[in-house]
Amino acid sequence: MRIDSKRCHVEVGDAVLLLSPQGRLFRGRKAARNPIAVGDRVRVRLDGEGGGSIEEVLPRTSKLSRASAGEGSFEQVLVANLDQALVVSAVADPELQPDLVDRILAGCEREGLRAVLVFNKVDLVPPDDPGPGHWRAFYEALGYRVVPASTVTGQGIDELRDLLADRLSVFCGLSGVGKSSLLNAIQPGLALAVGSISERWREGRHTTTHSSLLRLDNGGHVVDTPGIRNFGLWGVPPRDVGELWVELEPLIPQCRFADCLHVREPGCAVLAAVEDGRVTRQRYESYLEVLADAQKGRL
Ligand code: GDP
Ligand code: ZN
Repeated sequence: MRIDSKRCHVEVGDAVLLLSPQGRLFRGRKAARNPIAVGDRVRVRLDGEGGGSIEEVLPRTSKLSRASAGEGSFEQVLVANLDQALVVSAVADPELQPDLVDRILAGCEREGLRAVLVFNKVDLVPPDDPGPGHWRAFYEALGYRVVPASTVTGQGIDELRDLLADRLSVFCGLSGVGKSSLLNAIQPGLALAVGSISERWREGRHTTTHSSLLRLDNGGHVVDTPGIRNFGLWGVPPRDVGELWVELEPLIPQCRFADCLHVREPGCAVLAAVEDGRVTRQRYESYLEVLADAQKGRL
């Protein structure tokens, strides 16, 4: 256990203080594994000399979890009190991966989190390339907001900055899609990680995977979190996967069988909608992938 890993960076007014959680926060069954997460609001006791302790974690309005790595998996809260997720993809280099986007969107639905899709690197495709326009229309038709962006031309940067103001947002997407570049374009000079969280309760069982919390001048906070593949899908039972697809959810009550998994059951309203094009193959394939993972207990 590292000594410095017992402390958390806490924003108190305009200052960021390094404070230690009270030992009792680690006791009790529920708190034992994960008493404090990035984004938590806490009650602190200050000693008047720039130090102090974290006395209490206030109730969370939302949380984003995943199963911990290793044996005896338990829920690991990645971020607390989130307002929205920015799901970042590149339209080229690397190619947009709709199945991963759909998986993350499902995780957002599970958590009740508003999701905004960012399609970065639009400068890499010619203006008449149908790709970005196609994907934008595809996701807007499902009701999601899409922001095409480029850190090279500056497209979309003002819109993203406005979206982030006064909210706690998580940036998720594969590495290499341009998350750090976008954040630097949104706020040049941004470098300070103010929210590395305590690793104390992990007791060296995991490699350090801190999420960090960045503070923007416009009152926004952004978490850049690793491990996004199964983002938000912790412990979802197979039967509940379908309702995380916004366009499948209203169809499900019309399936003949209450326990329909929409794979090949007779009288399935989802299969009928895929057949006549009301649901796209792409989205349905993504559903099947996540369903298979849920059935194997891999989520
Ligand atoms: P991250 O891993 O998601 O944080 O991605 P980075 O911000 O590190 O960017 C990965 C690579 O993509 C870097 O070489 C960036 O220079 C490049 N990149 C980021 N944004 C853009 C963009 O809008 N257009 C182009 N052409 N390249 C970009
Ligand atoms: Zn069905």
